[in-house]
Formats: sequence, structure tokens, C-alpha cells
Amino acid sequence: MALIIQKFGGTSMGSIEKIRRVAAKVIKEKLNRNDVVVVVSAMGGETSKLLDLASKMGGCRNDMETDLIISSGEQVSSGLLSLALKSEGYDAIPLLGHQVKITTDEFYGKARISSIDVKNIYRMIKQGKIVIIAGFQGINSGGFITTLGRGGSDTTAVAAAAAINADRCDIYTDVDGVYTADPSIVSDAKRLDVVYFDEMIEMSSLGAKVLQIRSVEFAMKYKVNLFVKSTFLESKGTQIKFLGDEEDMEELQVSSVACDKDEAKISIRGIPDKPGIAAKIFSKISDINIVVDMIIQNISVEGHTDLTFTVSKKDLQKAIEIASDIARDLNAKDVISDDKIAKISVIGVGMRNHHGTASMMFESLAKESINIMMISTSEIKISCVIEAKYAELATRVLHDVFNLGETDNKRDECK
Ligand code: ADP
Ligand code: ASP
Ligand code: MG
Repeated sequence: MALIIQKFGGTSMGSIEKIRRVAAKVIKEKLNRNDVVVVVSAMGGETSKLLDLASKMGGCRNDMETDLIISSGEQVSSGLLSLALKSEGYDAIPLLGHQVKITTDEFYGKARISSIDVKNIYRMIKQGKIVIIAGFQGINSGGFITTLGRGGSDTTAVAAAAAINADRCDIYTDVDGVYTADPSIVSDAKRLDVVYFDEMIEMSSLGAKVLQIRSVEFAMKYKVNLFVKSTFLESKGTQIKFLGDEEDMEELQVSSVACDKDEAKISIRGIPDKPGIAAKIFSKISDINIVVDMIIQNISVEGHTDLTFTVSKKDLQKAIEIASDIARDLNAKDVISDDKIAKISVIGVGMRNHHGTASMMFESLAKESINIMMISTSEIKISCVIEAKYAELATRVLHDVFNLGETDNKRDECK
């Protein structure tokens, strides 16, 4: 008998019919004599609709009313799944974030989980109930509802798995695992049996939304036994695991390509090139909880330089306002922005042992006349900012160049 977390995303909870199929997946696990805690997202598309409603009434992403509104999608879906399970004769109980007691920090719209009270969950399990937790939501110290950022139910699931010490955390979605690239962009993308945590962190932060980045960080920190599986197909899925000493680091130079169209870039031009300026700019931006991703600074010409950085599109307006204030303070020339960009990345732990990945990537983009605007690298990834209109083309070209569609991946089978 095992204790299992099953998480079903919006793509799995899209209709009454789909929710019945989700119920069947849960029942299957029960019939295997396992205890099950289910985490659900809102029905597909619902959170975006609610966000749109809030914004029409003047709400923005990080105010308390917006979180109250957008958290309601998960209230509906957890209730519906509970009804579906009860109609099949199973005892289920839906719990909202505050009923479990999932506490978070104060940041509406992108709150972080600080603790999960496991008492209620254990008590219900002991009573033989299937516990259904509404994902994506918690409460802050004032008792107000917070949400965890788009895709945040993944994080609820992994955090709950860590808190209750689950034997497994299965993230069910509309694809049957983690692929070498987004299968909706690259038709010959391949499912990977295994993805290493280091890679998954990069993939999630570089646009592969199949797992929310914070869920991967959580799973890594608390050593959660994490899988991505399909709600609709019988498939082995993908195991996310730690890279052990026994792994073959020579295997694949690049194991996946990711693409992110969610960023925009801002340039502050003609800034005096003096010590302390970058610190001043980026501390003001981080003060309002905006995460800056890539940064480049041009060579100084006559004591002045340009600084370009990227932020999430949803933070663009605020970041421009701050950048414009700073530009005025510093007597800089101007501030310009561009939201028609994409970040294309190649990722793989094998890169540590191979040379030439960057040149292969740059040459392939050049062959397609795709201009590279910014570059950033780490030991296991290379990212380039390009024009948004080339995002899909670049994804396919790089997937081809690194033979991701053709290679049989040699990684371990899922246990
Ligand atoms: P859910 O509603 O289940 O949370 P998401 O839409 O958040 O599902 O995530 C699943 C989607 O992630 C897939 O439909 C797929 O298009 C996309 N995706 C992007 N990159 C990848 C990848 N490398 N492997 C698998 N899916 C990916
Ligand atoms: N419903 C939320 C969203 O659409 C959370 C999630 O799906 O994980 O972002
Ligand atoms: Mg998701």
C-alpha cells in the first residue's frame, strides 16, 4: 500500500466527460489498494477567463481581489471531481487551500508556499476518504486567499507530496510525459523516459510549461519521487530524477529544446557608465518583486552605455515605469522596449562533456537568417533571444540539428 499524490491539470479537467475520466484514474489507484490525495487545477481556460474578468474591473495580477477571483476555478473543479467520485461509490472530500491550511507569503499573484498543515489530510485518509485539494491557492498571514502563479497547481501537488511524505507524485496532463521539445510545435518530438532535475529546472524556466518551475525546485529540495503522465493514454510517462554517478554523461549533448514567448526586453540607452548604476537599476526593479532574466550591457562609448534586460511580459508595464524613472534620474537618453521576442534554448546535462554546442546552435540559426539579440549560457543550457516570429522555426531547426527526433534516447526506463 502506497500513498500517492495525483495532480490533474486544466487540460485534464476540461469538461464533465473529462472529469469522469479523471475519476476513473483515481479509482484505479484506489483499486490498487493505494491511498490517494488528488490535486486539481481549474477546468481548462477557466483561470484565464477569470483573470480577464478581474482585469476588466481594473484588477491587476498582484492584488488580493484578483487572487480571490481567480482561485475560484479550482473550487469548482474540486467539487465536481468529488461529485464524480461519489457517484461511483467512493468517499471523497474536497478541500480548499484554507481548509487544508496551506499558508503562503504575502505576494498576491505569485505567492510561495511556506507550510502545509498535514493533520486534516491524514485524518481524512484514515477515514478512508479520497482527499481532493484545490490547487493553486493558499492563505497568507492575514487569512486572505493568495495564488501561486500560473501553472501553480503543480507546486501545490509537489509541496503536498513533500508534506505528507508521499511515495509518489504523479502529474497527469494532456501529453504522456516530458518531450524533447513542445510536441505541439515539433511533430517528431520524442518522449523522454527520464529527465534529470538539473535539466527540468532549466526546461521549466525556459518555457516548457509542462511543469511549473517552482514545483521542480520543491521536488528537488524535498526529494519528491516525481513523474509526468498522461490522463488519456496508457504510457510509462517520464520520471524526473537526480543524476547519479552511474549515469552515462556522454549520451546526449542536448536532450531538449525549449521556447519561451513570455518575455519582453527593455533597454535604457545612454546611461552614464559609472560604478553602482546597475546595482541602482536592478535593486529598484527587484524591490517591486519583478524578476529580471537576461541582462546585457553594451561597450561604453564616450562614457555612456546601453543596458538591456528581459522581464516577464506581465511585468513589462511596471518595469518600463521604473526604468523611465531611473532614466530620468540618471539623465539617460531614453527607454525603449520590445515585446515581440522569443527565447530559444537548448538544454542537456551532456553539454558538460561536449564542445561546440554553442557554435552549432548559432550556425543553425544563422543559416535560417535568424538574428540573435541576446545570449545567455550555463553549464547545461544555451539561450538566445530572437524575433518572436521565428520562435517555432528555430525550435524545429534546433531539434533537427541536435538529432532529437531521430535518436532513440538511451536513458533508463521508468522504475
Ligand atoms: P496542465 O493543464 O495539465 O497543467 P499544461 O498546459 O500546463 O498542462 O502543460 C502541458 C503542455 O506543456 C503540453 O500540452 C505541451 O504543449 C506543453 N509543453 C511544452 N514543452 C513541453 C515538453 N518539453 N514536453 C511536454 N510538454 C511540453
Ligand atoms: N488554474 C491555474 C492556471 O491556469 C493553475 C494551474 O492550472 O496549475 O494557471
Ligand atoms: Mg500546467
